Amino acid sequence: MTLVTQSPVWRPFTQHALQPEAIKIARAEGCWLDADDGSRFLDAISSWWVITHGHRRPEIMRAIRAQTELLDQIIFAGFTHDPAERLARRLVEISPRGLEYVFYSDSGSTSVEVALKMALGFWRNRGETRTRIVTLEHGYHGDTVGTMSAGARSAFNASYEPLLFDVTRIPFPFRGREQESLDALEAACKAKAAAFVVEPLILGAGGMLIYSAATLREMRNICERYGVLFIADEVMTGFGRTGTFFACEQADISPDIACYSKGITGGALPLAVTMCKSEIFEAHYSPDRARAFFHSSSYTANPIACAAALANLEIWEKDEARQSVTRLCQLQEERIAPFKSDERFSNVRRLGTIAALDLRAQGDGYLATIGLDLMRFFNSRGLLLRPLGPTIYILPPYCIKGEELDLVYGAIDEAASRFR
Ligand SMILES: *Cc1c(COP(=O)(O)O)cnc(C)c1O
Repeated sequence: MTLVTQSPVWRPFTQHALQPEAIKIARAEGCWLDADDGSRFLDAISSWWVITHGHRRPEIMRAIRAQTELLDQIIFAGFTHDPAERLARRLVEISPRGLEYVFYSDSGSTSVEVALKMALGFWRNRGETRTRIVTLEHGYHGDTVGTMSAGARSAFNASYEPLLFDVTRIPFPFRGREQESLDALEAACKAKAAAFVVEPLILGAGGMLIYSAATLREMRNICERYGVLFIADEVMTGFGRTGTFFACEQADISPDIACYSKGITGGALPLAVTMCKSEIFEAHYSPDRARAFFHSSSYTANPIACAAALANLEIWEKDEARQSVTRLCQLQEERIAPFKSDERFSNVRRLGTIAALDLRAQGDGYLATIGLDLMRFFNSRGLLLRPLGPTIYILPPYCIKGEELDLVYGAIDEAASRFR
């Protein structure tokens, strides 16, 4: 396979001194990435969590081709187009009740920035001084300055610390310690916070940390009681990932603001939306220009991306899509179960289509740097897995087959023997 080393490309989240090479992929289909020499990689992390049904799903590819015959980008202030109008209506129909307005943007980070700005604009336009943002420890909401501020502080954002704004962090609701977390949220809400932003049911980049639907519902209740806006960052969890269409459904809650991005086009094209309740839209609705919502991305509501999202939602109307999620949940449960009694691992867990387990340390300090070695090992076995430190997670496209998952779990078993 072609390993690209001498290249002007500066890759994301990559220390080029440790990882100068990149694997060149020529083609993708279903769960597989084909390198240009014929070697193949099983995409067990859905290409960083974006691919839902599988790569190059034919209906989505067809919709993209058809839309290119009509419209490329057009300005979205003062103008609109059919794909954006239809998609917005569909998103309102399928979202938790009350999310009635749709603001388009182009990435998960941006959709969360938009949510934070909506929340601040809401309070300012209502004449209340509420500016404090509340977040969960270990949270991740993106890599822009605002979303880094809301996310966990770590080596990943240490250099940018002077730019980050202060937020109130409440402890992650680890099993048995939920009350501590809820009490901290209540105290923050009482102090008149503006909004609480949270990844529902599972913190992705923070290490695939799972918490209960009952806790999520209680968090929502607390925010409601104190009038604090509840922002659900469903960027990773949306579009079937947690077993239901949206994670919030499992707690039977309806957020004030919700962010969707990764699975919205099935993974084909970048697109994001920030959905909100009518009160938030109405707080910005006024003859006074100064009360407008001041945000725009150049590629707002790209028609081709909207057409891809519409084709994706049509796939979801068929039973087949939901069945493949249910089937994958079962396949994952069957395969992860034996690891629960395996001494080499801890925190063996699953939520919906996502399974994760932590490699137990033999010596101190070693695990911090093990992610890269593990990743190389998995690549050498023809697998795309990208552990978060010692946390190995399997987050595949919904079309993956049992035999393919066996390759993944076989390699995890082998890695545990090799790397501990
Ligand atoms: C990936 C992710 C984001 C950021 O999305 P980008 O499209 O990478 O900007 C935000 N929130 C969550 C929960 C995510 O998983």
